[in-house]
Amino acid sequence: MNRPLDHISEAILRKKNEQSLFIIAHYYQRDEIQDIADFVGDSYAMALAARNSSSETILVAGVDFMAETAAILCPGRTVLSPEPAATCPMANSITAEYIVDFKKKHPNSMVVTYVNTPADVKAVSDVCCTSSNAEKIIRKLPADREIYFIPDQNLAANVAKKLGRSLESYPSACPIHDRLEAEEIARLKEMHPGALLLVHPECKPEVIAMADYAGSTAGILDYVTKSEAHDFIIGTECGILHPILKVSPDKNLIMASEELICPNMKSITLEKILNSIENRETIITVLEDIRVKAALALEKMIELAS
Ligand code: SF4
Repeated sequence: MNRPLDHISEAILRKKNEQSLFIIAHYYQRDEIQDIADFVGDSYAMALAARNSSSETILVAGVDFMAETAAILCPGRTVLSPEPAATCPMANSITAEYIVDFKKKHPNSMVVTYVNTPADVKAVSDVCCTSSNAEKIIRKLPADREIYFIPDQNLAANVAKKLGRSLESYPSACPIHDRLEAEEIARLKEMHPGALLLVHPECKPEVIAMADYAGSTAGILDYVTKSEAHDFIIGTECGILHPILKVSPDKNLIMASEELICPNMKSITLEKILNSIENRETIITVLEDIRVKAALALEKMIELAS
């Protein structure tokens, strides 16, 4: 039976009050999910929020690597995923075996791993990063070490350009952000000559080159809310519109493409969240030897980013 969304939201909020439960959601989640979450943020902020929360149970409304990250950073606590099949194609494009083999062939290299990866890949990495801190972290790594940045070639190219440092990268990309083409953006800019273009660094370098600002979802939110401008072309997943308009309802937000929708993020629903809380499923676990090694790479990220 389909229940109206506000009834499901109320049921979730009631359940939340009855137990030690913390709900974390990504900015790309559906609006109604962001509204019932205790914390909404980008992947870096979500990792910190999970690590810093004291709740016995953490429900992660995001794709699988986000729930895994919470499980890695929060040993002894229960991490729930309302939809374990929600995954990230880019994260799944690389394996731990590939990294181990690369390191054998390049002993002077340091592997910098985007959080959009499975736990076993993080476990064989030197340090993790997110789009909000990649630049800061790589800036702190020794200049004489070769950097292998995995798995997002666009983020790698964009960070390399900013730092003036060459980064070897793995040939993969976010299938959502990689859809944006420079020609499409040029047309939009012509149609909206006064609008500022804000894009995510997972976009292609030629798209970034046209932007007024390139940054993480949290960075884009911050930019719009602090800017005195009125019109913005938004080059990231459409879920970001909701938190921006909550803070700045008067801004005119133009999506750079109607295709900026991540189906995996959107496969999570309020009903699945309620079911997850009621039936305590699906509990996300990570093998302890992998968890310990992956936690080192994540904690290194937190240390270097702070
Ligand atoms: S938006 Fe891209 S990087 Fe983020 S989960 Fe979806 S496919 Fe993965």
